[in-house]
Amino acid sequence: MKTKKSSTLEVAGVFVAVGLKPNSQHFANIVKLSESGHIRTDELMATSSPGLFAAGDIRKSSARQIAPAVGDGATAALSAFSYLRG
Ligand SMILES: Cc1cc2nc3c(=O)[nH]c(=O)nc-3n(C[C@H](O)[C@H](O)[C@H](O)COP(=O)(O)OP(=O)(O)OC[C@H]3O[C@@H](n4cnc5c(N)ncnc54)[C@H](O)[C@@H]3O)c2cc1C
Repeated sequence: MKTKKSSTLEVAGVFVAVGLKPNSQHFANIVKLSESGHIRTDELMATSSPGLFAAGDIRKSSARQIAPAVGDGATAALSAFSYLRG
């Protein structure tokens, strides 16, 4: 980008990492977001909106790794089940 020159690099694969900004603006008026735009949840993945749960990288304080994201998802699913059961 700096030199405006281009070149070709032969690789076996590509991992795309183009930014870390959370795509959370759809929820800005529904749940509480952090200053960085991540969704605030408690330890059961509940957001500030009853019945709405968040999991993974979108969450404030997420470790932003696959293993915790999967754990978040399992917790959020169980919390949703519990919420619906009443
Ligand atoms: C280059 C790179 C390398 C990484 N390497 C590792 C690693 O080695 N080990 C590790 O543990 N973690 C790694 N990570 C982090 C890991 O990928 C994430 O922590 C994990 O994918 C988070 O899962 P997630 O489901 O929360 O979010 P994502 O995997 O980002 O899934 C979110 C999904 O929501 C979709 N989406 C977004 N907006 C909308 C919308 N408005 N409507 C509908 N769908 C929408 C997106 O398209 C996406 O499919 C890496 C990340 C990157 C970028």
